[in-house]
Amino acid sequence: MDNQNSYFKTTYLSDLTYIKGVGPHRAAVLKKHGLQTIQDILYYIPRKFLDRTHIMKINSVRAGDEAVIIGKVIAKGIKKNRKRNSFQVTISDGTGIMTCVWFHSISWITEKFIEGDLVAFFGKVDFYNGLKLVHPDFDLLDSGEDPINTNQIIAQYPSTAELKSMGFDSRGFRRLLRSIFLKLEEFPIDPFVGLNTGDVRLISLPDAIQSIHSPESLEKIKTAMFRLKFEEHFFFQILMALRRCVLREATGRIFDKKGEYVKRIYDRLPFTLTKAQIKVLREIHHDLKSPIQMNRLLQGDVGSGKTIVAMLTAAIIIGHNSQAAVMAPTEILAEQHFTGLKKYCDLVNINIVLLKGGITGDDRLSLLSDIKKGTAQLIIGTHALIQSDVIFKDLALIIVDEQHRFGVDQRKILIDKGYHPEVLAMTATPIPRTLAITYHGDMDVSVIDELPKGRIPIITKVVTPGRLPKVYDFIRKEVEKGRQCFVVYPLIDESEKMDLEAASSGFKKLQKDIFPKLKVGYIHGKMKSDDRDIEMQDFIKNKSNILVSTTVIEVGIDIPNAAIMVIENAERFGLAQLHQLRGRIGRGTEQSYCILVQRKKTEAGLHRLGIMEKTNDGFEIAEEDLKMRGPGEFFGTQQSGYGKSLIVNFQEDGAIIRKARQLAFNIVEKDPHLTGSPHQNIRKKFMQKYKSMLDFVNIG
Ligand code: ADP
Ligand code: MG
Repeated sequence: MDNQNSYFKTTYLSDLTYIKGVGPHRAAVLKKHGLQTIQDILYYIPRKFLDRTHIMKINSVRAGDEAVIIGKVIAKGIKKNRKRNSFQVTISDGTGIMTCVWFHSISWITEKFIEGDLVAFFGKVDFYNGLKLVHPDFDLLDSGEDPINTNQIIAQYPSTAELKSMGFDSRGFRRLLRSIFLKLEEFPIDPFVGLNTGDVRLISLPDAIQSIHSPESLEKIKTAMFRLKFEEHFFFQILMALRRCVLREATGRIFDKKGEYVKRIYDRLPFTLTKAQIKVLREIHHDLKSPIQMNRLLQGDVGSGKTIVAMLTAAIIIGHNSQAAVMAPTEILAEQHFTGLKKYCDLVNINIVLLKGGITGDDRLSLLSDIKKGTAQLIIGTHALIQSDVIFKDLALIIVDEQHRFGVDQRKILIDKGYHPEVLAMTATPIPRTLAITYHGDMDVSVIDELPKGRIPIITKVVTPGRLPKVYDFIRKEVEKGRQCFVVYPLIDESEKMDLEAASSGFKKLQKDIFPKLKVGYIHGKMKSDDRDIEMQDFIKNKSNILVSTTVIEVGIDIPNAAIMVIENAERFGLAQLHQLRGRIGRGTEQSYCILVQRKKTEAGLHRLGIMEKTNDGFEIAEEDLKMRGPGEFFGTQQSGYGKSLIVNFQEDGAIIRKARQLAFNIVEKDPHLTGSPHQNIRKKFMQKYKSMLDFVNIG
């Protein structure tokens, strides 16, 4: 291997196989973890840093302390006991001796240490038969790495069992990086060299990389992290700026007049628009008037009143004799939009149609012909809209609902069916701001941040099953007052059969044993849509008092009289889903109640339910959700590069993201092809390191 190195220059693009001590076998394992080239390792960011200020002396620790102790192993062995065996390691740091104890994985631990090893232990100090560290974490140090004597800061790297088995524990990574720095002749491209970054001060990339992996001071680590975070966000924003630029190059059309339809619908509204709705409509109208194609994301919590905003937008377009289409991810949601919008269309004789997968034969042909002739003015549908035989006369507005559930390709097919159509994406999934400008950074964002007046905040309570009799009494009383109630059961793909059984036996029990005098309905996703419609209609007309369902009601119904929701096994739902479900109540004028039945205690579950009890604010819930799950899972899409990045952190990086965005957008505005001489490094590095992000954006 070494020979090979002398033939080739070692650059940031060199394969790790050729680094001393790696070799093909270990390189293969590293590659599995996304680490193939030297560049990959250089961007492999430590998860923690250990410096002498963290370290405690054995003679000063007390029971209960969270301690970091560095010492030499002076003895080790298995201690046999009447009850159970334990493995013990005794260390000394010159001020005293301390014993570390493991009760599990003894055989594995036994081989980890040899006497004389220098080790950093992290754990809680316990007192029994003297002070002990039980099941501490540890990091083996090389003899030159003792931070107490050398005043060094030790970088600690993330690892996995598989990496560790190949020697890539924290120490393994430190050793690997040391040998890389000895050999490395060419650092990764620094995209900011020779670039005016305004008031953002950035250290050079080689400096940043070296400060991260061989840290000299905490201050330097901070500056270096800033530099690396900035770069990563910068490239993502470059991508957003480029995508936006592509859209902006297309000349949009001008829809300046609000027109008769808008006026007539507006005059007949049974309510006055909220300030937030008016603000958003202005933003949209501004886009429609301008020759630049609209590309706007409309965010509004459930119940915030997006439907009327969509309607008035469509009315402007239809008033110009063009067509508008609404694409929704599920049939239920498409039907809901159809019903919601039809109310308004009927007032002013706009011809609205629903194109569903289930419509076939002559019905379908006649629908398609209306769409082609332009007699269908507002077209609602699912993916059915993008089939090749759907041809529009003049599609000028596309409204995509819950757009993160569609691929970019699908949106593009629909867009291509029109002539530079305006695009309005809508979502009821509140997205934390930092994520919105990252994942939807190519769009303008409008937010309806206010609920219509008169809504009474929902009261949410977490209960254990023991409290259910009380809950049922309460439901009986509310039903006597005329209210209706949802009872929701979880339905997860992996446990679908069991879940359906639970829902169906829950339904039987509620009808037969608990509410024999009330009418209980039951819907689930596996039933025929006709049957489901009958049950649904009964509930809408208040013929049934209680509706048991699996999660199919998550989207799609607006029943103001439903004032109670019981969510069974609530701990199994994610925050976003709980919030969506709860949004089905609290739509009327009466106080609504959401009862979360918690059957299993897990820490994460408790935390989630606690948040639901505390707040009704979708954005607050979204922030918490992001904190708990991370950005990749936040959208329910597959994890990918940026989502898994070790460098970025969406809770903390808000200010950096905004600065990186500003710089990226300025650059792309001036030089959209990034061919100008100060931008060539940006272009080169983008293609080399961040190109895979393109796929990621295609998901979002
Ligand atoms: P979402 O944003 O969840 O789609 P909807 O558009 O379905 O919300 O609106 C929820 C309910 O609020 C509907 O019954 C709608 O008629 C009503 N609504 C919408 N805007 C207002 C308003 N400004 N004042 C009072 N009620 C409103
Ligand atoms: Mg809606």
